[in-house]
Amino acid sequence: MKKATVLTSPGPARHPLLLTALATLWLVALPNIPLWRQLTNLPEVTGLRGLLFGLGLACGIAGLTHALLSLLNWRWLLKPVLTLFLLSAASGAYFMWSYGIVIDANMIVNVVQTDPREAADLLNWRLLLSLGVLGALPVWWLWRQPVREIPWLRQVGGNALSFIASVVLLVVSLMLIYQDFASVMRNHTQLRYMINPLNSFYAIGRVAAQPLERDNGKIEPIGQDARLALPAGAAPAVVLVVVGETARAGNFGINGYERDTTPRLAREDIVSLRNVWSCGTSTAASLPCMFSHLGKEAYEKRSSNHESLLDVLHRAGLAVVWVDNQSGCKGICARVPSISTTALKVSPHCDGGECHDEVMLHELDKRIAELPAERRAKGVVVFMHQMGSHGPAYHKRVPPAFKRFQPECASNALQQCERQQVVNAYDNTIAYTDHFLAESIAWLKKHSGPSALIYVADHGESLGENNLYLHGLPYAIAPDVQKRVPWITWISPALAQQRGLRKSCLQDKQMAPISHDHYFHSVMGMTGARSAEYRAELDIYGSCMAP
Ligand SMILES: [Zn+2]
Repeated sequence: MKKATVLTSPGPARHPLLLTALATLWLVALPNIPLWRQLTNLPEVTGLRGLLFGLGLACGIAGLTHALLSLLNWRWLLKPVLTLFLLSAASGAYFMWSYGIVIDANMIVNVVQTDPREAADLLNWRLLLSLGVLGALPVWWLWRQPVREIPWLRQVGGNALSFIASVVLLVVSLMLIYQDFASVMRNHTQLRYMINPLNSFYAIGRVAAQPLERDNGKIEPIGQDARLALPAGAAPAVVLVVVGETARAGNFGINGYERDTTPRLAREDIVSLRNVWSCGTSTAASLPCMFSHLGKEAYEKRSSNHESLLDVLHRAGLAVVWVDNQSGCKGICARVPSISTTALKVSPHCDGGECHDEVMLHELDKRIAELPAERRAKGVVVFMHQMGSHGPAYHKRVPPAFKRFQPECASNALQQCERQQVVNAYDNTIAYTDHFLAESIAWLKKHSGPSALIYVADHGESLGENNLYLHGLPYAIAPDVQKRVPWITWISPALAQQRGLRKSCLQDKQMAPISHDHYFHSVMGMTGARSAEYRAELDIYGSCMAP
């Protein structure tokens, strides 16, 4: 009897983990060259420290890539998956290297919508060479390797262990370089779209998931029954609502900070709440949430977008204007008059090339006078969106005359400054906000009628505690300093009298747990607006006013 010929490919059967590990090494080292090139061009990471940062980042990316491969490591799946990774990475590397692009959801939409002529324009021998060397070559090698068969139960255990080990590698690497990592990723957001080939997979996932997510094109109206509920014959009030930026409650002298960062507010008759929690840890997360009637929990689970607090105040008949000295209102002011002050050339506020927050008070009377008279007769609500303490270049937020705490970090690479210098630069921004708020109160005092100021920040900031800088960590793991925000109220005697407001009642809430969930309803309470969305139990002012 003739023995059956045993068909084997060259070489011994490979353990699947060896293949995933080799593929990971290849992917991190070669198709990520555009990322490594970009890193060497960054001013923040140079010399030995830069090298260690690069190594740490490479280990982190390797951990992330291998964790994903560990989940996909099944006998018939492994080679197709590795092929997909290698070819995606090769083409991604080519486009990033040649065109200086990064790969995000928009780019994937561009690719999907490309017509054959455009695609042909992109085809050239460099692309083929890149696909050949970075993609086809390792794929050719891969398919020639026999893979050792592993009983499925051991495969499950092996994959779980390899997944855990990969995640540990990822977490430990990022922890070791966190200081540089946080700042580099924030200053150069494009880098996250250069991690190859995960950038492509993530972007494709985003594009594919879009129809399943909420309908972002549609905005549900709110406050359609909005009206004013004020005492009969009440004089129209002016309410200034200052939307603070990156202000941590603990660095305000009036909140017990050991440094006197708020000498001017300390002399005003204000109430400062000390136990206020933000909705998110970034502007993009907090701002729309603050101005939503839903509150944090419902806002995060919402199935459609809604209009904002501004729309309700506008529908109630008030004269509403949004003045923005930052990067815009994230859509919440889309349907009311708004002004950006960032590009003004007003001396001295804009002399340093960037307009400091006081510019928002410049010609404010004129801006209000331009609002419809019939609305002004019912009341005025001015929102002022501060640049505040926006990092990492704290030193740019403050005019030279207000830099009381020295020496200050004058770089945006915070981790290269002494920690105390970072704190000094940050505290100078709080001291300038103190000045700005006091000037705002002074502006209100010039009006004889009822007026009030409400100042609440969007989120806090890390200033080097546990090597954390800036903000934006996932809420569940973010330190309290990123989530505790100031909430300061000044109320003119005329308004207090008109509304029967008891200041001691508000003062009693100083340590009460309050959050951005209270914001929408409290601003409504202060302005006297009411609608079906208004919830009295979340209005910190209403409960202290005469019924
Ligand atoms: Zn912010």
